[in-house]
Amino acid sequence: MQGILFVLSGPSGTGKGTVCKEVLNREDDLTLSVSATTREKRVGEVDGETYHYVTKDAFEAMIDKGEMLEYAQYNGNYYGTPKASIEELLNSGRDVLLEIEPQGALQVKKLFPEAVLVFLVPPSMAELKNRLITRGRESEAEIAERIANAKWELEQADKYTVLIENDDFEECVTEVLAYFYTKRKERAKIISLINEKV
Ligand code: 5GP
Repeated sequence: MQGILFVLSGPSGTGKGTVCKEVLNREDDLTLSVSATTREKRVGEVDGETYHYVTKDAFEAMIDKGEMLEYAQYNGNYYGTPKASIEELLNSGRDVLLEIEPQGALQVKKLFPEAVLVFLVPPSMAELKNRLITRGRESEAEIAERIANAKWELEQADKYTVLIENDDFEECVTEVLAYFYTKRKERAKIISLINEKV
């Protein structure tokens, strides 16, 4: 049986990157998909580990060749999930985790309706704004745009498998992992029923 495709998504500022990192720290049997991006490498990031850093031309060539499972433009850059590695991992029975923004998550759902989509939500819009201000990466205008986007993204919430609030970080990570384990347990049960000799 194929591995499970887990997608961790949510509005900008909900903490999906940090939650994803911690989930991977605690769970070995999960492979993170390394996305491709056209954005500049930040200090401390490693090509091939954090992202595959490619040029705009190379990214567009991958789109044209149908090599992207999904992609989105975010902040003036392309971000996307290369298809080949995901299919290979899932076919070999590995569970795969994607940490992507909501446009991409909804594209994945169209191609892989069986994917498990986790939507991280903030405790309040005021707190979301506060987190965006505190991380200090965006201008005031960009923050206003992120908040407007977040409202549209929240309207799509019913397309996800589960909603998890990221209020207390520790509780959120525990809840995400518990949900993943539930999904694995369900799959194991199905496999055992299918293989049962009667
Ligand atoms: P950052 O530039 O901060 O690493 O990422 C910006 C946003 O891009 C984050 O919301 C992250 O989840 C999203 N992202 C990273 N990789 C992908 C991807 O492969 N596809 C999509 N659609 N979004 C991605």
